[in-house]
Amino acid sequence: MKKRPNITIISARQIILWVLAFAVLAFIFQTRGAQKTVKLDYSDFKAKVAAGAVSNVVIGKDLIEGSLKDGDKISKFETVRITDDKDLVADMTRAGIKYKAMPDNSWVLSLLLNVGLIVLFFAFWWFLLIRPQQGGGKGNPLSFGNTKAKLQMGNNEGITFKDVAGCDESKEELEDTIKFLKNPKRFQKLGGKLPKGILLYGAPGTGKTLLAKAVAGEAGVAFFSASASEFVEMFVGVGAARVRDLFEKAKKMAPSIIYIDELDAVGRRRGAGIGGGHDEREQTLNQLLIELDGFESKEGIILMASTNRVDVLDPALIRPGRFDRHINVPAPDMKGRKEILEVHARKVKLDPSVDLGDIAKGTTGFVGADLANVVNEAAILAARTEKPAVTKSDLEEAVERVFAGPQRRSRLISPKEKRIIAYHEAGHTVIAKKTDYSDPVHKVSVIPRGPALGYTMQLPLEDKFLTSRSELIDRLCVLLGGRAAESVVFKEITTGAHDDLSRTTAYARQMVAELGMSDKLGPISVQTNEDEVFLGRELARHKYSEELLRSIDTEVTGLVKGAYERAKEIITANRDALDTLVERLLEIEVVEGKEIDEIMANPAAYKEKLKTLKEKEAAEKSKPADETVQEG
Ligand code: ADP
Ligand code: ZN
Repeated sequence: MKKRPNITIISARQIILWVLAFAVLAFIFQTRGAQKTVKLDYSDFKAKVAAGAVSNVVIGKDLIEGSLKDGDKISKFETVRITDDKDLVADMTRAGIKYKAMPDNSWVLSLLLNVGLIVLFFAFWWFLLIRPQQGGGKGNPLSFGNTKAKLQMGNNEGITFKDVAGCDESKEELEDTIKFLKNPKRFQKLGGKLPKGILLYGAPGTGKTLLAKAVAGEAGVAFFSASASEFVEMFVGVGAARVRDLFEKAKKMAPSIIYIDELDAVGRRRGAGIGGGHDEREQTLNQLLIELDGFESKEGIILMASTNRVDVLDPALIRPGRFDRHINVPAPDMKGRKEILEVHARKVKLDPSVDLGDIAKGTTGFVGADLANVVNEAAILAARTEKPAVTKSDLEEAVERVFAGPQRRSRLISPKEKRIIAYHEAGHTVIAKKTDYSDPVHKVSVIPRGPALGYTMQLPLEDKFLTSRSELIDRLCVLLGGRAAESVVFKEITTGAHDDLSRTTAYARQMVAELGMSDKLGPISVQTNEDEVFLGRELARHKYSEELLRSIDTEVTGLVKGAYERAKEIITANRDALDTLVERLLEIEVVEGKEIDEIMANPAAYKEKLKTLKEKEAAEKSKPADETVQEG
């Protein structure tokens, strides 16, 4: 890589050095020769003049200097001038003393001193006020507009897809991007749709940055990364300048990847903050939008960014032609965790008896960064006890430690809780499968995601614009399936269904009050506030009779209760399927649609099939690899 000469390189340290050097010079200048100078009173001076004992007198504005003759010894003297003495010159002429006037250069000195003070002041100001805001930046005070973007060339760090595990779908979605970066022109000729802005979203530590680096590594292109929060913490206008600079640099090195971490730091909805938002943030965001629109992906630049949440981003950012490709980087499932552990275990010496699958099983909710941490901690533990290799107990203790870390505590899920969560989610699933009008179940998971402890994902077969009453009734039932399963299985209910319940109630109210779907009330629609559909009662109160409003309440309650009873019946009738699904969930955490179908169709047969499958696997494992015994 060629480095552009940077004309603005004057570091803070250099400034401080200059100031110091200047101060020293000024000091010397002021006090030069001071050591041997004799200070005379004016009267003594006049006496010496009269005696002819001085020479080379220099008369300044306030001071008189010169040489003092004392026999052979010559020393310097100075005296404070009394300007009233009009006879001095005449006296000196009379005594034959050489004299001259000192040029008045004191203003130069004072100017220099003042400038020095100002510089000193700015240096302090910068050190105390500005620098800390840059996050301890080692940056140049005179080159604010230059990004601190770290440049990574090609395979510098050597990160490729091999280093990223547990997110195969995300990787697959990035294949096209790699093809494009490898040869932008050819990709275009083949008619591939040009990607431009790719947004990676997912919880912190799931490997978004790693994935972006791996794309650069796979394609062998330059990688520029910057953190959006860095842009925001700068002077007004500087964030925008840095964005501009970042794009310029990336263009020079195209094909390349620009990666912006924590995009939400600049990309939050404009005007959403208290007091109308952050000026600097908005400027930076606007500049980013300008750059996004201004570059063509033909140029061979791919912009990637990461965020925890897409929904907080400014809609302008995710419009078509900007960050329009959204790729989820999910928290890994059990298999994924095992793979991630394997990736990181490559760097340490692992005892052969360690089964990383076991560790994966006990780390539900851990993301890639946590797992990297576990392996690292385990290696430290092993080293501390001077073991030749990392053992199972090291890993288990490391898991405990990482669990106990501040951000993980909230994610700690005990086996007992996990079982309840599994039954809850399986409850949703079983109802969804056993009601006629529900959308197909895509997958069910007991991996925490955001505030949810698990989730059941249903996907409609096709786009729908109308929803029938039967569908809505079934939807209520599915929503209540989690609570129903808890109640049937454990004879006890938990707080886990809170969100389900509020959604159920909201749906039911909408059905009765707005969609005219209640038998008793008939096709009426009570006008409610559009934005707060379900809080609209207060506003509606004076428009409608108390009686009508009360019967709406009764109907809503009836609808919900009916759905709940039905859900419990379905659960009881399909207990086998429920138990089997839970068993499988506890085993692998995520069960896909196809497997769910199998379980639902015939739980007993499924169990049998799984059992033989496992026995076969176990047999293969225990069989020595070099077994060549021939029978007969
Ligand atoms: P994010 O950008 O999503 O917050 P990072 O990419 O910064 O997460 O992940 C931090 C570290 O955690 C990585 O450098 C890597 O060591 C480890 N890590 C995270 N996810 C994975 C993964 N899927 N596979 C392997 N290692 C991972
Ligand atoms: Zn639920």
